[in-house]
Amino acid sequence: MPLGMEKPSISNGLYRGLREGILINQIQIRVDPDFIHDRQYLRRLVSEKIHATVESFEITRRSIDARSKRPQYVLQIDWFAGERSLRETVPGPCKPVRSDHSVLVVGAGPAGFFAALELLRLGIKPVILERGEEVRSRNKTIAKLLRHGVVDKESNYCFGEGGAGTYSDGKLYSRSKKRGDVREVLDTLVAHGADPDIRIDAHPHIGSNKLPTIIQNLRHTLLCCGGEIYFNSKVADFAVRSGRVEGVITEAGGTFQADAVILAMGHSAREIFDFFRRNNLPLEPKPFAAGIRLEHPQALIDQIQYHHTPRHPNLPPASYGFVSQIDGRGVYSFCMCPGGQIVPSSTAPDELVVNGMSYAKRNSKFANSGIVIEIRLEDIGNFHKEGPFAFLAFQKALERQAFEFGGAVGQQAPGQRMTDFVEGKISSSLPATSYLPGIRPAPVHELFPPKLYHRLKNALISFDRKQRGFLTREAVVLAVESRTSCPVKIPRDGASLMHPSVLNLYPCGEGAGYAGGIVSSAMDGQRVARKIAENLGCL
Ligand SMILES: Cc1cc2nc3c(=O)[nH]c(=O)nc-3n(C[C@H](O)[C@H](O)[C@H](O)COP(=O)(O)OP(=O)(O)OC[C@H]3O[C@@H](n4cnc5c(N)ncnc54)[C@H](O)[C@@H]3O)c2cc1C
Repeated sequence: MPLGMEKPSISNGLYRGLREGILINQIQIRVDPDFIHDRQYLRRLVSEKIHATVESFEITRRSIDARSKRPQYVLQIDWFAGERSLRETVPGPCKPVRSDHSVLVVGAGPAGFFAALELLRLGIKPVILERGEEVRSRNKTIAKLLRHGVVDKESNYCFGEGGAGTYSDGKLYSRSKKRGDVREVLDTLVAHGADPDIRIDAHPHIGSNKLPTIIQNLRHTLLCCGGEIYFNSKVADFAVRSGRVEGVITEAGGTFQADAVILAMGHSAREIFDFFRRNNLPLEPKPFAAGIRLEHPQALIDQIQYHHTPRHPNLPPASYGFVSQIDGRGVYSFCMCPGGQIVPSSTAPDELVVNGMSYAKRNSKFANSGIVIEIRLEDIGNFHKEGPFAFLAFQKALERQAFEFGGAVGQQAPGQRMTDFVEGKISSSLPATSYLPGIRPAPVHELFPPKLYHRLKNALISFDRKQRGFLTREAVVLAVESRTSCPVKIPRDGASLMHPSVLNLYPCGEGAGYAGGIVSSAMDGQRVARKIAENLGCL
């Protein structure tokens, strides 16, 4: 049910209800890709379906049904009697910032940015401290990483303004059932320059060429409304007195004080986890998923999914989503990037991590996806002795080994043809790849403990049973996909959202273990901000 629709009545597939005070009716139509951009045709189709002439209509959801030989668009449509149109929803204006409260936000990723904007909306001043560069300088550092394979420890695919999602596919799905909150995040992105279609697409996406401008615009709003942001300001320690956090200390020795501190530092801020270790503060081990990144020629995925190549010009590059239970454990495709590129997401020069991104048009010749499995304590051998850091230690070991397999040269990655990975043999040659730092043949299958490899391999075989042609020597496997989520969890009290041992410290977003992905991290940021306002008596 779309946002704001109340008590719909349903008859003959037609929905009726109130949306923002306007009586609307909702129907679903199926459209051939030839006509998807033809507004007159769509209007006729809607009119035919309801046996009346429709003046105004709005597409509220768009998806593709590719099950038949000829894929079709499926549109959910709101139509109204008369020439009325729904009001655009824009995020509420900021209140004047109060001088008596301020909140420090560690990290300018989706969780940090959306927490800061929500604080401003509630009249509280946020001060963001970000270890990395502002996004335009970060662009240049990333270009060097791709060209020369040199990882800057403070500015890379995970660190810097906008956080880990800045150079991503910009997929905006969330499994959250709170559609209202999801819509609020999407509205904020649209108000800052994202394509309004993200509000209606079943699988909305933005693209790495558009995201930096949106992030700059978010920063502009933050500054205009009275917030502050400091770049190249890595938080190294916390000022804690009598069990209460009073501020933070940066690596350069700067000190910042505030009423509360939001920890929105993402899943790769290992020094922050060390702070908890040094101070004997509770942390929990958190199972995470790891595996490989798989890349096919996009034309092959189009052929498999759309039953036709070249694909229809009005269809986007095809994507896929797989999950198989192998020996009682789910193995699944993760963060699939149609028309995308594999990128090095390492945060230190002696490790190798891969991930995927794409541009708005998704127009590369490749389709990539993580194929991952949840790692449990029983999988990680002696690393389980590391207590709360068990999964983190295992993650580090995988990344270090992947670096060695890649030849320990820049960010060159170990590669294996998909069929050779399944057969457990080193490839004598490798197909073309989108991964710019380069790949070299290596025994990627030996990277994982045998039981994990067995599951990954059998999952690929089972995916091929579902979609014939998926298992192919034209596809290549790169390693290692290991930063899917955070391998530790920072506890927080369910009612106050504070850390149970440090008052006024608010773990938040993916790095604290409360979100996964851009939208859910942004929503967690908003939730924490509202709770802080409540705890400070500012609501
Ligand atoms: C290549 C790639 C592609 C992705 N694609 C998608 C996608 O398509 N869709 C999707 O939903 N998700 C995607 N993700 C995941 C998504 O980016 C994350 O889930 C999301 O960004 C988490 O948000 P966050 O704010 O919690 O943390 P982050 O985005 O990780 O932000 C944390 C910020 O904190 C900063 N920081 C860390 N330590 C410190 C410190 N000590 N002091 C100061 N600042 C610090 C970091 O520099 C960073 O900017 C992708 C991730 C990557 C790496």
